[in-house]
Amino acid sequence: MRLSGPEARQIALPLFRLKHPLEAGRAIFGELIDQQSGERIDEVVATFFERPRSYTTEDVVEISAHGSPVVLHYVVEQALARGARLAEPGEFTMRGFLHGRIDLTQLEGALSHRIQPVKKQLVELIALLEAGIDFAEDDVAVLSDDQILEAVGKIRAPLEALARSFAYGRVVHEGLTLAIIGRPNVGKSSLFNRLVERERAIVTAAPGTTRDLVTETVSLAGLPIHLVDTAGIRSSADEAEAIGIRKSYEALAEADLVLVVTDDTSAQHLDEDERLLRASSGRKRILVRNKSDLTCHSVRNSLAGDDSADVHTSAVTGEGIDALRARVVAEVGGGSAVQQENGFLTNLRQQRHIEESLSALSGAEQAVRQRTPHEMLLMDLYNSLRPLDAMTGDTTTDDILNLIFSTFCIGK
Ligand code: GDP
Repeated sequence: MRLSGPEARQIALPLFRLKHPLEAGRAIFGELIDQQSGERIDEVVATFFERPRSYTTEDVVEISAHGSPVVLHYVVEQALARGARLAEPGEFTMRGFLHGRIDLTQLEGALSHRIQPVKKQLVELIALLEAGIDFAEDDVAVLSDDQILEAVGKIRAPLEALARSFAYGRVVHEGLTLAIIGRPNVGKSSLFNRLVERERAIVTAAPGTTRDLVTETVSLAGLPIHLVDTAGIRSSADEAEAIGIRKSYEALAEADLVLVVTDDTSAQHLDEDERLLRASSGRKRILVRNKSDLTCHSVRNSLAGDDSADVHTSAVTGEGIDALRARVVAEVGGGSAVQQENGFLTNLRQQRHIEESLSALSGAEQAVRQRTPHEMLLMDLYNSLRPLDAMTGDTTTDDILNLIFSTFCIGK
């Protein structure tokens, strides 16, 4: 087991009786002790790696036990109880990368690994189409439009996933600002508390009391998320509250993602909901219908938007909170597929290449639909290939010719 972070030693030490004090770079023999009885559970070896000379560049304690799942589980449980948290998939590597321990070429290696199969498909498609043109009399089957579109679609999908991973890479690095907005009393502070899992914002039944912005950084699926709880947004003559409302719109303007919270059990100020939805339209937004525990009192369901995309929550019972967390993570592109892959885009140059490639693919699709001659379509495909080449190394004419000849047995 590995613990990483400034408190790694503090968390680990009380779990063991070690023969010697921990010392950087040395493996120390010791015993794992039952936290209640103080009895020995297993023999362990603990190794301390002092920052920055560790895999993650943070203080790291590595613990080796005899490997019984029960024992391992016990250590993990005790570490969690003492304030550690489980690492997300790939998080140790990610931390190493973010702190410069693992360099870009290593990650670019992983990226290139992801692009190669896409390139291969693209080159195969090019080869097929080239063959259809050059060796028409040799009876090489020409692809139907549908087959071409299908092939292009297969090339496009992984590139789009990569394009999304760029946003994710940025979020991993800098975190993301999430604003919770809505009318007074819809449950913003309560949701905020649910999301941060501890009482920080002041929850109150009086409308408009959360006048200042409360911010808290939480980790959702390993992503740093800066939560901003805004004052209840409502037209108001009261000056202090008006300031709070202005702050809400400021927070809205700066947020990467907005949770618009509504309460379907209250018929008051529905126009404010509409106004908020308008103010937040065109940005990443999740419509949260709170107080789902009271839906039997629901007064309407007419709010604009696709209901299936809304998240129904109850800050009181906790219903829907996990779904909301999952939605937040999904919105920033942190699907599990992305997280588990090391090959995500890490810089703007790569992002440009992928976009260029995708846009040329769109051109190719259009060319097919407009039934332009395959010579023109091929130009688009070559334009799509070039930026990928720039990332992974060139495809030569020989590569394509080799493929044509090896695949189609042309010319004997
Ligand atoms: P805010 O003004 O939007 O920040 O709303 P608060 O979080 O202060 O909540 C206002 C009132 O609604 C409080 O009395 C909360 O306990 C209550 N409340 C919040 N969320 C829910 C919910 O999901 N269900 C129910 N029944 N009450 C809620």
